[in-house]
Amino acid sequence: MNERRTAVPPLIVTQDNSFFFEGAAAGRLLIQRCADCGTLRHPPGPTCPQCRSFEWDTVESSRRGTLHSWTISHHPQDPAFEYPLAVGLLDLEEGTRLVADIAGVPHDELHIGMPLEVGFAEHAHGAVLPQLRAPGASRTEEGES
Ligand SMILES: [Zn+2]
Repeated sequence: MNERRTAVPPLIVTQDNSFFFEGAAAGRLLIQRCADCGTLRHPPGPTCPQCRSFEWDTVESSRRGTLHSWTISHHPQDPAFEYPLAVGLLDLEEGTRLVADIAGVPHDELHIGMPLEVGFAEHAHGAVLPQLRAPGASRTEEGES
């Protein structure tokens, strides 16, 4: 990709969150799951907030959810994004929440509870990260590639 002057910090990848970014690069949304009590958690971390276990694995999300809340950002503007920028908080079907930018949905059509799905887009530093889209938008894109 072209190097863009951006204030967006590079991703900080650790042994606790690398699965998330590796999954996203492969077009999969992975959620961390406690291997002892089964509690799902996001963002990733080393211990289970329910039982304090350090043992975990992952489950693959359906990538479907509903919009819990959102905001429209106007400033400060970073060249890595187009403004005004919609950023949403998605309630995933699995029960965890995900924050990501919203693409391809007119801002005046956004409303709490609307169905959205998770696709993927290139981050300012070249990594691939989740992006919220209208249902079906990601399947169309995948069919074209
Ligand atoms: Zn647990």
